[in-house]
Amino acid sequence: MTQKSARAKTTSETKLHSKRKSQPAHEPKIQLDGSCQCGRVTFSVKSDYVYPYQLCYCSICRKTQGGGGYAINLSADTRTLNISGQEFIKIHHARVKNPEDAHAHISSGERHFCGECGTSLWVYDDEYPELCHPFSSAIDTALPVPPSKTHIMLEFKAPWVEPQIGDQDLTFTRYPDESIADWHKRHDLVGRG
Ligand SMILES: [Zn+2]
Ligand SMILES: [Zn+2]
Repeated sequence: MTQKSARAKTTSETKLHSKRKSQPAHEPKIQLDGSCQCGRVTFSVKSDYVYPYQLCYCSICRKTQGGGGYAINLSADTRTLNISGQEFIKIHHARVKNPEDAHAHISSGERHFCGECGTSLWVYDDEYPELCHPFSSAIDTALPVPPSKTHIMLEFKAPWVEPQIGDQDLTFTRYPDESIADWHKRHDLVGRG
């Protein structure tokens, strides 16, 4: 399967999944509590997918959040998101220009961060309104250690970054062909933390 068709498949599956989830669905089991560094913003959200296994080396993640060369997002249920300090939150829409693009475009993804201290909080996209993707670094709840990792967007990693790739890990030059939910299903870790 080419990377393009793999990506198209992932997108359509995600959309089907979204439609199903917009029906009354079960509430995720695990509550994640998060905060920014200055403490003006705190939040909680529920999730069944709490293993911080997916490392993104793209330039957006490492510039805005990942000083070590990558960032990790979790996947949670937007309907369960509770925010304190909403007035301090700012939103960044990343400018994206891949090598094959003639022009840059502005991402629809909303990268929420604290406007006072700069802590990255979560990513939200109107295309998938039921999903919100907290940065693992903003979460105060103790997260479990993943049994394997997935390294994505390696095409865009900084030259000085040396990914630590384990025997069981998966690597992708761009997007993965496995969703966060599917990784948790494959490892029988849905709703476990
Ligand atoms: Zn703050
Ligand atoms: Zn990224």
